[in-house]
Amino acid sequence: MKHPTCCDDYDPNSLSVEAALDRIAHELKPVTAYEQVPIRSALGRILAEDIQSQCNVPPYCNSAMDGYALKNEDLPQQGQATLIVVGTAFAGKPFVGEINSGECIRIFTGAVLPKDTDTVIMQEHVEVKNQRIIVGEGHKIAQNVRNAGEDIAIGQLVLEQGKQLVPADIGLLASLGSPEIKVKRRLRVAFFSTGDELRPSGTSLEPGQIYDSNRYTLHSVLTRLGVDIIDMGIVPDIKEQIEQTFLLAAEQSDAIITSGGVSVGDADYVVEILQKIGAINFWKIAMRPGRPLTFGKVQQATFFGLPGNPVSAMVTFYQFVQPALRRLMGQTKITSTRVKVTCTSALKKKLGRMEFQRGVLRYSEQGDLTVTSTGHQGSGILSSMSQANCFIILPADCGNVDAGSEVLVEPFEGLI
Ligand code: AMP
Ligand code: MG
Repeated sequence: MKHPTCCDDYDPNSLSVEAALDRIAHELKPVTAYEQVPIRSALGRILAEDIQSQCNVPPYCNSAMDGYALKNEDLPQQGQATLIVVGTAFAGKPFVGEINSGECIRIFTGAVLPKDTDTVIMQEHVEVKNQRIIVGEGHKIAQNVRNAGEDIAIGQLVLEQGKQLVPADIGLLASLGSPEIKVKRRLRVAFFSTGDELRPSGTSLEPGQIYDSNRYTLHSVLTRLGVDIIDMGIVPDIKEQIEQTFLLAAEQSDAIITSGGVSVGDADYVVEILQKIGAINFWKIAMRPGRPLTFGKVQQATFFGLPGNPVSAMVTFYQFVQPALRRLMGQTKITSTRVKVTCTSALKKKLGRMEFQRGVLRYSEQGDLTVTSTGHQGSGILSSMSQANCFIILPADCGNVDAGSEVLVEPFEGLI
């Protein structure tokens, strides 16, 4: 019999989180198919083309203020100058006509700057009397003027293919006059839970049964990610049924995610079946929670096997599956936000594995961002994920953490 030791967490055959991420990234083939969609439908989609501007934004020189447009030569070096107001330029209604020396026009924000003028004086900085303005010294040439193309110049690369579109991008596309754009087709992701003990919510439980939570968590994280979801339900620990479900899932999807059935229990068939009908890598990752990660293929579909424990399933999803799905969706820049903050709790941590503990990131009364542990870190404690808004990431070579130390956190929800 082997007695437990403090070195149990160190396994020379296990793979680091970074190495596993690299191996996965290496295997993935992003979708190439695309569709043309109206820009309003493109939020969250992955751009499938480089967008080069066909026009200047703004298209013409215009006023940044309500005021008076004039020639800078008419501004006084010293004292005051009086100019005659000879017309008005509104946004959308340009002033047409000549403006001579000693003259100016009333101008409103966004109105075309008349060709004979180069400077706008704010209305608050002049005195108006009998169709004339009196302007003092200290104004600068070309002030309060927005130049043509100062936001976007004609020919400029505005958005690169592979970008996930955010609200400002949609507005930017509208400002270029684009009604539609090409985006990558949506990724189709099938998923199911395995386990004889699992029942869907809304049913009653017999002794020994529990409610399936992973499928609901997965449904939610996948919804946020913007993929097409194919929920294949709960599949009992019966080899033939799991195999059938895999084949059915592979027909309809780009990626298949399962939870449960990948540890080394007697009824854990996922690995065995994948060895038969697909390709599978079974990796021991030097991380906690979520040590086993299975990754492979069923026909053309990429397969991810998550551990059954609800927290392990979520941690593994966020750390491995989400970036992989983003890559498959065609996203080119995939980054995670990680920041160093002070940890207000003491943390227990064994050497040897990278840990993703659950934390609450918030502002202290002094206005500093701090993180506090959610407490019990068991891999079945889903309530700790619900209370948390970030992972506290402790590297493999880090031991116990004293309260007041700096730690790395990765937010997965907004501040509480
Ligand atoms: P397994 O990976 O199948 O050995 O499951 C590990 C643990 O997670 C067991 O306690 C299971 O009952 C539990 N579990 C597995 N799948 C789910 C699920 N979909 N929802 C909630 N708990 C689960
Ligand atoms: Mg199971």
